[in-house]
Amino acid sequence: MAWRGLAPYNPLQMKFISTRGQAAPSSFSDVLLAGLAPDGGLYLPQSWPQFTQAEIAAFKGARYQDVAFAILSRFTEGSFSDTELRVAIEAAYADFDAPQIAPLVEVGDGRYLLELFHGPTLAFKDIALQVLGQLFSRALKARGGRATIVAATSGDTGSAAIAALGGLPNIDVFVMHPKGRVSDVQRLQMTTSTHANVHNIALEGSFDDAQSIVKTLFSDTAFASQVSLTAVNSINFARIAAQCVYYFTATAQLGVPATFVVPTGNFGDIFAGEAAWRMGLNAARFVIATNANDIMARALNEGVYESGASHATLSPSMDIQVASNFERALFEACDRDADWTAAAMSDFARDRRLGIPQEVLANLRARYSAFAADDLETREAIAAVYRQTGRIIDPHTAVGVCAAMNLGPLQSLMPPSPVVILSTAHPAKFPDAVTQATGIAPPEPPRLAGLKNLSERLEILANDPLLIKRFISSRLAA
Ligand SMILES: *Cc1c(COP(=O)(O)O)cnc(C)c1O
Repeated sequence: MAWRGLAPYNPLQMKFISTRGQAAPSSFSDVLLAGLAPDGGLYLPQSWPQFTQAEIAAFKGARYQDVAFAILSRFTEGSFSDTELRVAIEAAYADFDAPQIAPLVEVGDGRYLLELFHGPTLAFKDIALQVLGQLFSRALKARGGRATIVAATSGDTGSAAIAALGGLPNIDVFVMHPKGRVSDVQRLQMTTSTHANVHNIALEGSFDDAQSIVKTLFSDTAFASQVSLTAVNSINFARIAAQCVYYFTATAQLGVPATFVVPTGNFGDIFAGEAAWRMGLNAARFVIATNANDIMARALNEGVYESGASHATLSPSMDIQVASNFERALFEACDRDADWTAAAMSDFARDRRLGIPQEVLANLRARYSAFAADDLETREAIAAVYRQTGRIIDPHTAVGVCAAMNLGPLQSLMPPSPVVILSTAHPAKFPDAVTQATGIAPPEPPRLAGLKNLSERLEILANDPLLIKRFISSRLAA
């Protein structure tokens, strides 16, 4: 890896290890710039920083940016100074249209929506990627050199990465979306960027094909080091670290442990909840909500992690048949046995199927439940929430609402807790699904006005890693 060995040794800084056990312990900046560990595993902190209940309770009423600093600084120690981190966090959230950044809204019956869509691209990925962009440009400036970011997107990561990294010096951003599988608004948010360092690829394939090309490019170590390849997908631990924050702010605001329902694709957002729990947060339960791409629901409920064919649904950002971050949860659930994790992941790569051992499954089921909802149920949930509350929700949030409605029998077995549904996107990003369900179009927020009149830049490419590699090289040489 191009970054290896460049950081001066600092005994105070937090070290990160790979889930597959074959990578040297790395600093936060190494992890930020590398994305994936060189052994193909995912980075996690060597030990989780700890917060006391008093520290967590004190987050109540605090500015979101200050809570973010308290949490992120535990990870970035030794890699960024306090001032650098504070400046990065303030810049990251300056363009959000809600002062609370992640407002918690009560919708009745002890249920809440945690609104995560107030950033520049109207989906929750802004919350982490805006911070990542800021830290990235600082880390690159400190080290010198350029970086090439390649991101596979099911719709929202791409636009959020472009909003966070477009126009930054020393960085090129290549974003691959599955052609025809993202909403018009999602595509326009990506392809209308005017920044010269932004390159859009419409891949003739699925999101999983795009993600698999990214993995192939990373495994081509000569290419990866020649272009200083890096990833900003949720495999990048910095994203998980930034996403822990709203689990803390929501819990502090409620004052009691909550059941968090998380619309899930790549398992990044919900794993951030597990991370918060491992750092001392009291939570009642984490509920995985999937659409018809139900690999995670099947894994939890049947004990077999097996990818099937990918289905196009009303919630395209969750149309995923490989949940990359599940590797992190598996690593924790097997008590950090890196050899087992590495073997399990190589079995899964070969067979597209992994039987989860009983002890590991029991550990996962101790904190997770899972439910899947199809498009019909998703539309019904959008309609029901609109009828009952007058609120328009997006189809991803609606998948969460479906799971929350399924909680009844489970909740009667547990002490009562507020149910917090993560509301991951603004409904205006998915006007067709919303109109089908409610009969009315969601109002268009100012950020989207005029998008349709801008010209688009994108390259349509076949599902072939070699072609993608050539395209990247030719753009970098231009
Ligand atoms: C990315 C995304 C998700 C899924 O999050 P993961 O971290 O991939 O599980 C859910 N909803 C929306 C709107 C998204 O953009």
